[in-house]
Amino acid sequence: MLSKVIAQANIDHFAKWLDRAERMVIVTHVSPDGDAIGSSLGLWHFLNSQDKTANIIVPNAFPDFLKWMPGNKDILQYDRYKEFANQLIAEADVICCLDFNALSRIDAMAEAVRNSSARKILIDHHLHPEDFCSIVISHPEISSTSELIFRLICRMGYFSDITKEAAECIYTGMMTDTGGFTYNSNNREIYFIISELLSKGIDKDAIYRKVFNTYSESRLRLMGHVLTQMKVYPEYHAALISLTGKEQKQFNYIRGDSEGFVNIPLSIKNVIFSCFLREDTEKPMIKVSLRSVGKFPCNQLAAEFFGGGGHLNASGGEYYGTMEEALKVFEQALEKYKPLLNAKG
Ligand code: 5GP
Ligand code: MN
Repeated sequence: MLSKVIAQANIDHFAKWLDRAERMVIVTHVSPDGDAIGSSLGLWHFLNSQDKTANIIVPNAFPDFLKWMPGNKDILQYDRYKEFANQLIAEADVICCLDFNALSRIDAMAEAVRNSSARKILIDHHLHPEDFCSIVISHPEISSTSELIFRLICRMGYFSDITKEAAECIYTGMMTDTGGFTYNSNNREIYFIISELLSKGIDKDAIYRKVFNTYSESRLRLMGHVLTQMKVYPEYHAALISLTGKEQKQFNYIRGDSEGFVNIPLSIKNVIFSCFLREDTEKPMIKVSLRSVGKFPCNQLAAEFFGGGGHLNASGGEYYGTMEEALKVFEQALEKYKPLLNAKG
């Protein structure tokens, strides 16, 4: 049995909306990851089973390794079909905001969502949700939004309406947001849910291969290069990897090629904090990705030094300046956080 994580009042409230709604829109964060797409498609399949007209709108492209997911071709990209997307958002009865906690995380879509008269529900697991939805299902203690979608559907009494396709999407989100169940994944209920998803006929081993083992040769070469350049800071239990625009050209970088790189330095003994700096191809900034193991709060560091945020062990931000400057800021942050980086446990 699962414990009742989501408040009963929220379940009842959403069930009521669902009863009345005809046109529903699902939105998720910019540069959607496995959990963003997994939770959106999981909910979308469910809404389809309830004969709702549902559309998923994402701010921009998502990585190729998610493009096998059932329903992915129906996802609408805002940066390509802005007018149509705006119309869907404006005319929706309900907008479901998945896997993000602030309107700024949906980039150019923020205005349209803010201005829509649709009822809005937030389903998310990031800390400190902004106040823009009338139903807020926010659970930072849960490791993925996809898990929350499973819990929501079940609590409304619709487990039997979860199809194999929906189960595949939900599983993918749970798997990617926990690094294949290697972090944030000690809650035993996760494995009860997986067991339930397996009962729908999903092949979890095949999903793992499709998501994690379908890389291009150029990505592997790029990984080799980035790791050769890696900087390790033993006195801070930290490591840094970076990727300049020039290097991206050299290795025929395409969006998503560096997905997951930031986790690799954490496989070094005694490294508990990893940073990946990547020169952005669209904006004049350095995208900062941070990961930690244990109690080190990389979201606090992201907020303080890179105007970002996120989870305790996975966070990010942006730095408007050069790679050299970003590196300096990172090293200042290391110095400031030295006591925490050296704390036991
Ligand atoms: P990633 O390193 O995979 O891009 O991001 C990891 C996590 O950090 C995301 O799930 C999100 O919670 C957070 N994050 C990444 N970039 C930003 C950012 O620019 N601002 C904020 N507030 N959070 C971010
Ligand atoms: Mn997530």
